[in-house]
Amino acid sequence: MSNPPVYTTSSGCPVSDAFSTQRISVQNNDYKYRPPVGPLLMQDFKLIDSLAHFDRERIPERVVHAKGAGAYGYFEVTDDISDLCSAKFLDQVGKKTKIFTRFSTVGGEKGSADTARDPRGFATKFYTEEGNLDLVYNNTPIFFIRDPTKFPHFIHTQKRDPQTNLKDANMFWDYLTANPESLHQVMYLFSERGTPASFRTMNGYSGHTYKWYNAKGEWKYVQVHFIARQGVHNLNNEQAGKLAGENPDHNTQDLFDAIEKGDYPVWDCYVQSMTLQESKKLPFSVFDLTKVWPHSDFPLRHFGRFVLNENPTNYFAETEQVAFSPSNTVPSMQPSNDPVLQSRLFSYPDTHRHRLGANFHQIPINCPLKSGSFAPQIRDGPMCVDGNLGSTPNYAGAYNCPVQYTAAAKVAPDGADEQYQGEVVPYHWEICDYDFAQPAKFWDVLGKTNGEQEALVHNIAGHVQAAKPFIQERVCEYFSKANPAIGQLIKEELKKLSKL
Ligand code: NDP
Repeated sequence: MSNPPVYTTSSGCPVSDAFSTQRISVQNNDYKYRPPVGPLLMQDFKLIDSLAHFDRERIPERVVHAKGAGAYGYFEVTDDISDLCSAKFLDQVGKKTKIFTRFSTVGGEKGSADTARDPRGFATKFYTEEGNLDLVYNNTPIFFIRDPTKFPHFIHTQKRDPQTNLKDANMFWDYLTANPESLHQVMYLFSERGTPASFRTMNGYSGHTYKWYNAKGEWKYVQVHFIARQGVHNLNNEQAGKLAGENPDHNTQDLFDAIEKGDYPVWDCYVQSMTLQESKKLPFSVFDLTKVWPHSDFPLRHFGRFVLNENPTNYFAETEQVAFSPSNTVPSMQPSNDPVLQSRLFSYPDTHRHRLGANFHQIPINCPLKSGSFAPQIRDGPMCVDGNLGSTPNYAGAYNCPVQYTAAAKVAPDGADEQYQGEVVPYHWEICDYDFAQPAKFWDVLGKTNGEQEALVHNIAGHVQAAKPFIQERVCEYFSKANPAIGQLIKEELKKLSKL
């Protein structure tokens, strides 16, 4: 570097020797060879400044999705979908919007292996002119639960035992088999797609149902799919286990290296849509996160693509501090009544307030830079770094501070909307026969590719062999709900593995 920066304390005071410490010398004669042995001095701000900050350089890691990697890129509109959605960033074919995407595993800690069998988080922040839109997705089109109350219970069983601090196959399978609405997702997770070869070679799915509005105020339910142009490529169980030991950061490195050498990954964006009337004819609830919308009834409609073409320059500032939430949306894209989605609307920003502080939206990676943000009542608090709206009144409705903004998109629906009335009820979603119809279809889908059914059975047996025999028995019954052959095949595979 021709002009290296001058090393200073945090207050900017130049430091002449970065590595010296202030100590009382008791041996003045030849201290060059025998260092002074006196104590350190409290006045040595350079040292205290450095250590005190070092002691504080961790923030709480995310309880889920702790291990991740991210990159910048852009989204480009490829097809007109104004009949479906009036979001400004979609209003012109060819229009580009800056994005940041973060991929992650779910259950593992910040240093855990990228190749673990686990769903992958797939979250994209779109810096649009109507504020930041976060699409907070997974690489699986369904999920383990549909009652949000189950989430902390479920996650605990996939993490560590309270006494041993070990992962525990008994509690893992005990929970899942007792809550069989999880079956569809568990089959997906134990298929080869449960261990993607790279973040670049997996798809992303909204899973949840959302509502999109056009400029007339008409709305439809939608689900969004990001399909990897690179194709879907996976590791097998043994390859994933080996890589977890040899290079636990395999997928992080793969993404960084690919972008560094100009091999930019691309995803095509599709939307499935459904009217309110159509939703009433479904054999399942449109708000059920354990179900997909069959392609044949709800075809995928292409509307865009996104490209990741720039690595972050600082992992912590960008990838660690990025704060996604499904509540970050634009006027014409609204959440549905999917209860798990609704609970995420609360839980995600709540996590960020805890993890990053009340002013997390001021951190540059989270700032709605393109739209600007003007919420005069959101003021003060910890780490307020953006000028705090200066001398502007701290309430809306002041003579120079408007109460209302006229949105370009008309959001209030003109046509029929969902209507709810009645008493407050303690609703716990019951299991029904249809819950096993889509897992059964999934087994057939796997049957279309050589070796996929065998891989599913092998991957399940390899995991459940660490559980007690009565849990193994329950696991076989659980998968038999999709197809009795699966339970039988797992039994046989368990026998084979026990002889190895
Ligand atoms: P289709 O036959 O039209 O679609 C099956 C879909 O399954 C494919 O389009 C593909 O989705 C996905 N798929 C293909 N091979 C595999 C594999 N080896 N592992 C995992 N997924 C694979 O049927 P339906 O739409 O009626 O769905 C049938 C079943 O397929 C569902 O019950 C569900 O389990 C599964 N599925 C359905 C999806 C959907 O959104 N409808 C999405 C993914 C899986 P993709 O192109 O998204 O990879």
